[in-house]
Amino acid sequence: MKLLPLPSDGRTPVRVLTIAGTDSGGGAGIQADTRTMALLGVHACVAVAAVTVQNSVGVSGFHEIPPQTVADQVRVVAADIGIGAAKTGMLASTAIIEAVAAACGETGIGQHGAIPLVVDPVAASMHGDPLLHDSALDALRQTLIPLATVVTPNLDEVRLLTGIDVTDDRTGRKAAEALHALGPRWAIVKGGHLRSSDFSTDLLFDGERFHELSAPRIDTGDDHGGGDTLAAATACALAHGYEVPDAIAFAKEWTTRCLKAAYPLGAGHGPVSPLWRLSEKW
Ligand code: PLP
Repeated sequence: MKLLPLPSDGRTPVRVLTIAGTDSGGGAGIQADTRTMALLGVHACVAVAAVTVQNSVGVSGFHEIPPQTVADQVRVVAADIGIGAAKTGMLASTAIIEAVAAACGETGIGQHGAIPLVVDPVAASMHGDPLLHDSALDALRQTLIPLATVVTPNLDEVRLLTGIDVTDDRTGRKAAEALHALGPRWAIVKGGHLRSSDFSTDLLFDGERFHELSAPRIDTGDDHGGGDTLAAATACALAHGYEVPDAIAFAKEWTTRCLKAAYPLGAGHGPVSPLWRLSEKW
């Protein structure tokens, strides 16, 4: 695959901010984001929104960071370090979502500012453990998703946000339209969890055109952190000036490669892994 360019002076790389939750098992969340960013040659900045108590078999609890502290991490990074794109993941509560949306608005992060924003509306882990209070769905719909350059829900999150159960191309298109109506510049409906074909096909919609992106399905039980990896790689490509469809195509290829390199861990689901980049020529 063609990877992102490294800095031409060999010094300061492009910076990307992740605003998300930690995973003590090291598979998903901020750990997945920063691993992908580092291996794409991007400097990762981090605003921690929640700390999860998690291993390969599930999430047994989480601790929320005070909303003001989450928002202030965004503000100080944007003011000093300068970022080319941002990404949100697990935000846990209405108060954190609202504080993050306000900080993004103030600092030019989001589709109305100069800094592209990927909103991954994380609601639950692959084991079904909650990562977002049910009451916070409205805040996602009303304050954060409208700021998104692109919103990247999985099919469970699509159902929670739009009420539409995606089972095929027709319901996928309906869901992409319903997501786009919430106000992001682009909406994606990711087909990775639709088990009905040998391909994982994502639908992108910008209010006018549908784009379809397909990749061979990689069947592995070790796919923890796959959604985070796709959203993080998308943010890295946007920070390098890619248009959204090209950024998603790049991120999909990266995630497919990382799914092939996933490894078992503990008694549950292992993580997708970008570590292949350390040992393979590209
Ligand atoms: N834990 C954290 C902190 C996350 O952000 C996420 C997903 O975004 C998960 C767990 C769940 O990842 P998965 O759906 O791959 O289990």
